[in-house]
Amino acid sequence: MIRLEGVTKVFRTRRGDVAALDGVALSIESGHFVAIRGPSGCGKSTLLSLVGGLALPTAGQVVVADRNVSQMTPAERAQFRTENVGFVFQMFHLLPYLSVLDNILVAASPGKRQEALARAEQLLERFQLGDRVTHRPGQLSVGQRQRVAMARALLNQPQLLLADEPTGNLDPETASGLLDLLSEFQQQGGTILLVTHDDRAAARAQRVIQMDRGRILDGQPSG
Ligand code: ADP
Ligand code: MG
Repeated sequence: MIRLEGVTKVFRTRRGDVAALDGVALSIESGHFVAIRGPSGCGKSTLLSLVGGLALPTAGQVVVADRNVSQMTPAERAQFRTENVGFVFQMFHLLPYLSVLDNILVAASPGKRQEALARAEQLLERFQLGDRVTHRPGQLSVGQRQRVAMARALLNQPQLLLADEPTGNLDPETASGLLDLLSEFQQQGGTILLVTHDDRAAARAQRVIQMDRGRILDGQPSG
């Protein structure tokens, strides 16, 4: 599902080059739930952005769902993301002036709005947000906001979910509810890459990858 070979990512800044990733090799099979841990600044979010086609590596190959993400044009990457990848972030990244429903529909492919609407309504019911459809994010609890973000991530039925500290702003009970949704996604065949500092979140994963300073420490073979 995911294969990284010799992946390096260098950010050029005014204060010099920062190697966010330094020769990362990684292989993750379809249907696996993998957690990534490591100190702040070690490259976890950078790794997710490369796997999700949000950024390009400076060197190396990123292959996801048999597609070489590193060789796509920006338009191809955008389409690849819409079709294959859902993202969930610590800060939710909801648009404050849009309703819950419209926040989910921002992920809809052009020309598939009717289909997306039906799917969004179904996700809202499933995530106990059926009575919050017209609310704005500011009128929701943090747990509800993250469920909206999760519904947006799942709108296009992606095969891969990339979650960057999704429980970082949630209390333990709410976090556990969100982790249940992640586990459910995996049970339905999805692949998950979860960045987390939380032991309970990491415990859901079948495999934990430890990173430090742009490298994978105990890089296991394909799991
Ligand atoms: P983590 O998610 O593990 O905290 P990041 O992947 O966000 O780490 O960052 C890894 C390193 O790359 C850090 O040193 C960070 O400052 C740097 N970095 C990340 N994004 C950028 C950027 N857009 N420009 C410059 N440096 C960046
Ligand atoms: Mg990060």
